[in-house]
Amino acid sequence: MADGKWDEKFKAFLKQYYWEEILHLGNEYPEQRSIIVDFSDLEMFDRELADELLEHPDEVIPSAENALQQIDLPIEKTLNDAHVQFIKVPNKIPIRDLRSKNLLKFIAIEGMIRKATEVRPKIIDAAFLCMRCENITHRPQTENKFDEPKFCESEICGKSGPFKILIDQSTFLDSQKLQVQESPENLKGGTQPQSLDIDVDDDLAGYSSPGARVVINGVLRSHQRTLREGKSTTYDLVLHANSIEYIDTEFDELEISPEEEEEILELSRDPEIYNHIIKSIAPSIYGYEDIKEALALQLFSGVPKNLPDGTRVRGDIHVLLVGDPGIAKSQMLRYMVKLAPRGVFASGKSASSSGLTAAAVKDDLGDGRWTLEAGALVMADMGVAAVDEMDKMRSEDKSALHEAMEQQTISVAKAGIIATLKSRCALLGAANPKYGRFDRYEGIAQQINMPPALMSRFDLIFVLLDTPDETKDMKIAQHILSAHHAGEMSEQRIHLPTSKVTQNDVDSRMEVILPKIDPDIMRKYIAYARKNVFPIMEKEAHEHLIDFYMGLRKMGEGKDAPVPVTARQLEALVRLSESSARIRLSNVATIDDARRTTQIVHSSLKQVGVDPDTGAFDVDVLTSGTSKSQRDKIKIMKDIIRTVGSRHSGGKAPLDEIYAEAEAEQIDRGHAEELIAKMRKVGELLKPDNAHVRLV
Ligand code: ADP
Ligand code: MG
Repeated sequence: MADGKWDEKFKAFLKQYYWEEILHLGNEYPEQRSIIVDFSDLEMFDRELADELLEHPDEVIPSAENALQQIDLPIEKTLNDAHVQFIKVPNKIPIRDLRSKNLLKFIAIEGMIRKATEVRPKIIDAAFLCMRCENITHRPQTENKFDEPKFCESEICGKSGPFKILIDQSTFLDSQKLQVQESPENLKGGTQPQSLDIDVDDDLAGYSSPGARVVINGVLRSHQRTLREGKSTTYDLVLHANSIEYIDTEFDELEISPEEEEEILELSRDPEIYNHIIKSIAPSIYGYEDIKEALALQLFSGVPKNLPDGTRVRGDIHVLLVGDPGIAKSQMLRYMVKLAPRGVFASGKSASSSGLTAAAVKDDLGDGRWTLEAGALVMADMGVAAVDEMDKMRSEDKSALHEAMEQQTISVAKAGIIATLKSRCALLGAANPKYGRFDRYEGIAQQINMPPALMSRFDLIFVLLDTPDETKDMKIAQHILSAHHAGEMSEQRIHLPTSKVTQNDVDSRMEVILPKIDPDIMRKYIAYARKNVFPIMEKEAHEHLIDFYMGLRKMGEGKDAPVPVTARQLEALVRLSESSARIRLSNVATIDDARRTTQIVHSSLKQVGVDPDTGAFDVDVLTSGTSKSQRDKIKIMKDIIRTVGSRHSGGKAPLDEIYAEAEAEQIDRGHAEELIAKMRKVGELLKPDNAHVRLV
């Protein structure tokens, strides 16, 4: 290549600032093919040159590479295809703000890789053999469309071919396409993330997988769209990557100023901090203090641990909300997505091909190549994934979720794509029961269509029942109406110039639904705690957790007693206690943290793991649906119906006789009716008329 305008300057710059790196490159070339230049070094060396790079990258980058390739090395090697990658470029532009003025400029964009195609060779210089005269014509391939020569370049021949492409004399580069999407934390609640396609070549290809958070520096280009009728006048944007920076630290994007840090420390010293945090989660939703406390613990999270045997123990706390419709489950999920420093919302029944986990797809991005696309749990890596309507999840997602929740990875092996993506996120699920309403005599797992093994991976499960209760209903009604009232006043004040509502009126009305801690500061508080606080559990706290756990296990010791809890719950206890300490920004998890934890676990277990008949804890209720005493009772009822039926023609057993015999077995009328209803539902019992039943 001819010497560019800046070659000499770059030679001087590289020798002065990057001599070590160049020597290293000389040794490793061609396995390593790039040196990485920090933009601020170039700025320090020559401001004008740095500005030129931003304005005219298509001239400056080749010049920099030219300079690098021409530098004399102390060893016998030529760096013919070496690259210069520039990082930390100051021109960072949000994907949604890219405009035509940015075209052909050197810019940086930030986001998350949503899709990545397979790596495939791309021809950049094609050699054509003229079949008439055997002359070879080279044509550089710069566009997406393959460019063939019209005429033979030989002066003697000059015919229009035919030509044959010579693969061994053409030049190929590895190439890959990525799609980068705006990171969830940079989106204002609820806006759809936008994305940008990225072309990566040569030594940059093949290193990025979906879910990775990146800053990509490169030249913004456009490609003309082609319609069926021909070329369109609008162009699509593509960033041609020069370098990729990976961001792997948690919440680095949230900048906390010294004043904000002071405010956070101040908040943490308030003895009422737990209350304040609970009151800052979904304040427009009335009640549910225990659930909001659990959600607070989920936000702050336990400490993830790397053990010497290479295993990683998750710190993330998974929470599941099950219950009747219309009781603000979805609302709570949406609020959590806004509050979590990194929140992603998804629905179990979403139609997107990647679903919740990941998928290999063939789409436009890859021009027919296979593309790996990340789903919600990958996009929520190091954050919270809120998944609504989990009962409507696809079966592929269900099976992938086992791995995602425990190992926090998602493996894909399809169509030649084999990848393991990271999904280190806390899952907040919501599920509606199959028959619309929750049936406390049937297992949760069955009602929400979720395998018991998957359910047992949640640290906390809450069942929300919509039972009418006059005082509570009144309070909820008042709360909802006052929220609306405050909203009405505020809207009127904004839109009607003649409105008599004052800002004071609005403020005082809003108070009921105002979060105690401003969401912006809360998000930073959480990020600060997760980044800086790593509690260790005190001996007393240990003992308390062990006592609690052993107490629950003990209930399962008798011959006929159910097995109450498993070791999974013990791990949940540890995570919750650590998180509780983090809320105070304390590096010690104390007995108080342990007590708070056991209280919450107790209130969760009470809802899901209690045999409705005996009041004893029983994990079978959760997993198989019927507790031991229930199974026993159903057996007794069956026997009664069988004996009563055998006394009558056609096995038709009169209900009053059944109720009388059930009474003798300590099953009261109401319960007997429920059991009969349940047996009918599963098809074990027929009811030929109002007064009789018959076993099937
Ligand atoms: P679900 O997902 O449980 O079916 P939604 O989240 O869609 O329910 O809630 C239905 C509506 O009822 C929402 O507008 C919600 O604000 C309101 N709502 C239900 N319970 C409460 C409550 N306790 N406090 C305030 N609003 C509530
Ligand atoms: Mg809902």
